[in-house]
Amino acid sequence: MAPGTVLTQQGEIYKVFTPFKRNWLAKLAASGVQCFTKPAAQKPFNLKLPALPLMEEGDNSSAAWSVAELDVLNRMRSFCQQRVQDYASARDFPAVDGTSSLSAYLAIGVLSAQQCVARLQHEAAQQLEQEKSGASIWLSELIWRDFYKHILVAFPKLIKHQAFQPETDKINWPNNAALFEAWCNGETGYPIVDAAMRQLNETGWMHNRLRMITASFLVKDLHIDWRWGERYFMSKLIDGDFAANNGGWQWAASTGTDAAPYFRIFNPVTQSERFDPSGDFIRRYLPQLASKTNKETHWPQNPSQPKGIFDQWLSIMRHVK
Ligand SMILES: Cc1cc2nc3c(=O)[nH]c(=O)nc-3n(C[C@H](O)[C@H](O)[C@H](O)COP(=O)(O)OP(=O)(O)OC[C@H]3O[C@@H](n4cnc5c(N)ncnc54)[C@H](O)[C@@H]3O)c2cc1C
Repeated sequence: MAPGTVLTQQGEIYKVFTPFKRNWLAKLAASGVQCFTKPAAQKPFNLKLPALPLMEEGDNSSAAWSVAELDVLNRMRSFCQQRVQDYASARDFPAVDGTSSLSAYLAIGVLSAQQCVARLQHEAAQQLEQEKSGASIWLSELIWRDFYKHILVAFPKLIKHQAFQPETDKINWPNNAALFEAWCNGETGYPIVDAAMRQLNETGWMHNRLRMITASFLVKDLHIDWRWGERYFMSKLIDGDFAANNGGWQWAASTGTDAAPYFRIFNPVTQSERFDPSGDFIRRYLPQLASKTNKETHWPQNPSQPKGIFDQWLSIMRHVK
């Protein structure tokens, strides 16, 4: 739903997600999905282009992402037909292919959220009536996408790197460059964080649970300004979308729209034990841990950098009042 169309009774923007979602669902029930007819073909025209320089072949991180529209539609259809029913139980486990992986297409408009909702209603109408079903939860994620677009358009300051909660802009972040580099390179010594960052660096995509864990780690453990992480994600993500990325970072940093921000600190070890219990995801990106037991796999390891992250962290904290 276009930014500015889901508003409170007073015509104001919702600042928290749950009432926004309630109103969004009421609007969908009232007017349904608005599908447009196929546009008529344009007349052929001759476009005279100057000779363009050949693009340099970079890394092949986008090779896994087909750009054929039919492939994308089929991926979305088969997700709605078969996999969405397992979404509720599988979506938080990065070792499992439990989410749609459609974000890159939604971000650049190969696919619209309307198409997704129309297909979901067609394939999973009964599931949509149950609040905790895979289909309902997937729909909620699409609503989060709309929520952050509404927020971005209503608060243009967000695009000027300002926090949604203005008082949090007074935080004096220690911003240690070496710690930031270790985080970017997946060399913090925390296996779940490092494996996640390597997934991002190697594939251009990162699982949602891991985006939350790595963002929380950067801000709440390394005490680095969320904007550094936001910028780094944007430079790497194949699904980079300003509204969703900014919203996700500010949520994780407790500077954004989260209704209960103060105690939201993710423990990287317990998150790892809970969401990658067998360590399969970690070992996929950190094969050097193959010989560790499942239990050991989750605990901080000696990172491949000269100075341990704990030492660095302690030396910074000694200088923070
Ligand atoms: C720190 C952080 C940064 C993020 N940056 C981005 C970003 O740049 N681009 C982006 O598309 N998503 C971003 N997200 C949201 C989410 O992680 C991804 O949309 C999701 O992982 C994409 O995988 P998927 O297509 O398999 O998602 P699915 O679980 O299948 O969800 C379906 C679609 O819903 C939308 N969606 C899902 N979760 C969210 C969410 N929390 N906020 C907004 N939209 C959502 C996406 O378009 C997604 O493709 C971020 C989240 C965090 C915590």
